[in-house]
Amino acid sequence: MKKIFDAIVLGGGISGLVAAFNQQKKGKTVLLLEASNRFGGVIQTVIKEGYRLEQGPNSILTNVELHELIKELGIEGKIRKNEAIASTRYLLFKNMPLKMKPSWALLSSGFLKLGMAWAFLTERFRKKGALEEESIANFIRRRLNADILNRMINPLVTGVYAGDPEKLSLRSTFKKLYAMEQDYGSLVKAMFNRDKNSHKREAMSFKGGLATLTNTLAEKLGEHALLNTHVTTVESMEKGFKIRYNQGGIEKVVKSKEVISTLPPTVFGSICNMIDEPLQKELEAIEYAPMLLVYLGYPKASIGQALNGFGYLIPQQEKQPYLGGIWTSTIFPEVAPEEMELFTLFVGGVNNKAVVANIEESIEKAKMVFERHMQITSNPTFQSHYLHERAIPQFNLGYYKLMEKVDLAEKKYKGLKISGNWRSGVAIGDCVAGNVL
Ligand SMILES: Cc1cc2nc3c(=O)[nH]c(=O)nc-3n(C[C@H](O)[C@H](O)[C@H](O)COP(=O)(O)OP(=O)(O)OC[C@H]3O[C@@H](n4cnc5c(N)ncnc54)[C@H](O)[C@@H]3O)c2cc1C
Repeated sequence: MKKIFDAIVLGGGISGLVAAFNQQKKGKTVLLLEASNRFGGVIQTVIKEGYRLEQGPNSILTNVELHELIKELGIEGKIRKNEAIASTRYLLFKNMPLKMKPSWALLSSGFLKLGMAWAFLTERFRKKGALEEESIANFIRRRLNADILNRMINPLVTGVYAGDPEKLSLRSTFKKLYAMEQDYGSLVKAMFNRDKNSHKREAMSFKGGLATLTNTLAEKLGEHALLNTHVTTVESMEKGFKIRYNQGGIEKVVKSKEVISTLPPTVFGSICNMIDEPLQKELEAIEYAPMLLVYLGYPKASIGQALNGFGYLIPQQEKQPYLGGIWTSTIFPEVAPEEMELFTLFVGGVNNKAVVANIEESIEKAKMVFERHMQITSNPTFQSHYLHERAIPQFNLGYYKLMEKVDLAEKKYKGLKISGNWRSGVAIGDCVAGNVL
């Protein structure tokens, strides 16, 4: 094998695969090292008993970079947009999934309060915030009100970060909201002024599931992407970098002019000699939310709730044993056998880390309550689960200051790029955009 590469990419999740593909496109010699026995990282599509399960993300919100990538990979024909009916979202309110569309049911539910409408109407007259950083919760309370935070924003934050809006930093998570206030002084004003031609964001997957994207990237990289190669050290040399990895118990060394890490922060901090100890400790301390995915299949005839949406998220104040449930086979019908419906429940998050130690109990509790919410009259005929102990990095208050330190470390070493979802943003679209180098 060639011993000096133009670029070595560490980690074969979506971030690493995109980074390596882009290097290859530029005509550079590239090598990607992935520790596990498959590519895709948390993106993982599996088939079980006739059901297609996404054991990580379930769909992608598209952006310009992702569209470009799909075109370059030649998989436009494999795009699977969600069923139109699934564009409707629900929230759980008083133990019932409530449709978030203007309707008599919504008006009469008590979900909307006069104060919420007043907060939106008067938002444009509120003063611009002076704080350098604030939590999502603080920002929403300040610009709108506490009911909007608790009923609408809290479940949205759960849906993306499985996190706590009181701890998450607005400027590190919902960057657009932060910019809207900075640029226009008001969210409402910004919405009226937004570029009408800007890219329409749609939820999608692929024929064969999300792994189609990562598998295609891995195929394009061919022999330049290696599995079962566990990176153990990354060192800077006078010119370039030296990377040691373990392959089947054998220590190997490769060198490169550039190195792009997409490893989780704890791993990267501990194996890279360019990161000093205090920074390493800070990287180790980045909080992660655990997530237990519970898959349930029921006969169509046993479900009382109308399945005409994406599923529902649950505001924290509803105090339920799970964060939300998506109506997986309503979004993409091909994932379940005919006559059956597949659901995915999300259990865990930063406020329920105990899920990791109580898997069976957590599943039973969530299942029981879910069946009540959905008016299901039979037991599931299919059940499965998958646990991510460290699912989503939390961009809590102070995160941007930590990232500035990582930027400094990166700048100190020519050819070093520190990437991955904890740098680019957690959504797959962000991971793609962050690695189009
Ligand atoms: C349960 C769940 C649901 C999600 N839902 C959505 C969703 O619906 N939509 C969306 O847009 N996003 C979603 N996300 C977020 C998104 O999937 C992730 O942020 C993104 O896939 C992370 O990609 P990555 O390449 O940065 O990291 P990873 O996928 O974690 O990849 C890192 C890779 O590094 C490898 N590695 C680790 N250590 C070493 C080592 N020493 N040597 C070599 N390799 C190593 C790992 O094996 C792994 O393959 C979800 C995430 C989770 C966990």
